[in-house]
Amino acid sequence: MIGILGLQGDVKSHCNILQKMGVESSVVRYPSQLDRVEGLIIPGGESSTMTNLMERMGFYKPLTEFAKSFPVLGTCAGLILMAKQVKDSRVKPLGFLNVSVDRNGFGRQIHSFSETINVIADKREQKIIATFIRAPKISDIADSVEKLAEYNGEPIAVREGKHIGLTFHPELNGESIFHELMIGKNISRETIPNHQ
Ligand code: GLN
Repeated sequence: MIGILGLQGDVKSHCNILQKMGVESSVVRYPSQLDRVEGLIIPGGESSTMTNLMERMGFYKPLTEFAKSFPVLGTCAGLILMAKQVKDSRVKPLGFLNVSVDRNGFGRQIHSFSETINVIADKREQKIIATFIRAPKISDIADSVEKLAEYNGEPIAVREGKHIGLTFHPELNGESIFHELMIGKNISRETIPNHQ
């Protein structure tokens, strides 16, 4: 069972992707609910709001512990929260993904856009549509972090060990490659019903 952090943000589209993949999901609203999931998705939203809610609900310690054993996939605000460093004091990152992130590095709402990008992971190459919404930029990356996709020569999808961080939203276009990579199942696109 895969959990989706449900404090704020776009929980539903991740839920839909997992459903299409035939993977059971559960919304995680309380730290104790981490005990019943084997992976966690931190969705997009507003990382400063999520910081406040995570602090209020006491998520920092249990989530940091969880990430030592289980994979975490973060999209946009989710990536910001996973990062080692964020150039904004309103955000307190969890710090288990060795990257520095610039909030809204691609500009604000007006600069939201979709692009076809090339993803290369585990010797498999795939073109997908990525939607960027007030997207962060990855400004620094440790040697231990692998780049899975780039845009204009900058990393936009990264993996460190079992964790994956994305500056964009694949789930808004029904793209499941990163969910597959995170879960470690080799589900081919053909086996996913209603895949766009
Ligand atoms: N700009 C938002 C933030 O800083 C992230 C936007 C998103 O998740 N789509 O938290």
